[in-house]
Amino acid sequence: MSDMEIVAVSALRDNYIWSVTEGTRCVVVDPGEAAPVLHFLQSRALHLYAILLTHRHADHQGGVADLLAHQKVPVFGPTSSAMPLVTHRVADDTSIRLEGFEHPVQVLAVPGHTEEHLAYLWADHLFCGDTLFGAGCGRLLGGTAEQLFASLQRLAALPADTQVCCAHEYTLSNLAFAQVVEPANTALAARLEKSRQLRNSGLPTVPSSLGEELATNPFLRCSFQAVREAAQASSGLLLETPQAVFAALRTWKDHF
Ligand SMILES: [Zn+2]
Repeated sequence: MSDMEIVAVSALRDNYIWSVTEGTRCVVVDPGEAAPVLHFLQSRALHLYAILLTHRHADHQGGVADLLAHQKVPVFGPTSSAMPLVTHRVADDTSIRLEGFEHPVQVLAVPGHTEEHLAYLWADHLFCGDTLFGAGCGRLLGGTAEQLFASLQRLAALPADTQVCCAHEYTLSNLAFAQVVEPANTALAARLEKSRQLRNSGLPTVPSSLGEELATNPFLRCSFQAVREAAQASSGLLLETPQAVFAALRTWKDHF
């Protein structure tokens, strides 16, 4: 058993900056702003040891410069001209070993939300940025529906107890959409109830387990008849492949 401790630090409007701590060393994922990270480190007497970035958007890397001004640490991230502060460019299948951390970090290329998007699998925690959300997925802001579908399929094949550490608190609004897609899915109703209670207590709805996503996230359920029929009814198209269902769902959600 590792002593890895994972905490979701709230930032900006609805972002989570994930912190991974072992001993007094702390790695943060997607620091969109520095202040909440600095406060977190100080309140727990931790040292920033490295930064992991999933993609280019400002709400994921906006705090990096200020953090580096406090302490020079390696910044791991994709190859992108829009991410000049990355010091260690990593790509699909790279394994990152960080001293003092028992488990290596496995890099997965998950293009779709953006072209360069990476996810990090660290022991049983998946830091997936804006690719997979609680009951939803990222919008297409640079990549294609085909890419995002393939990326989500890849994440869906990870072990069911994988903890999905996404970068936004979108679960409740995603569940509202999921219920319209699959009104008869009883797992959805249960998840909505649980998520409402968490939010009413001021707690995050994340991480979820991948198993929970497989049971309730319509974007991972494009092969199910009910999801296909709902997407066909909404789009007015005959959707013959799970990929076509996915693309129709994504468009539908964009206007939901
Ligand atoms: Zn994004």
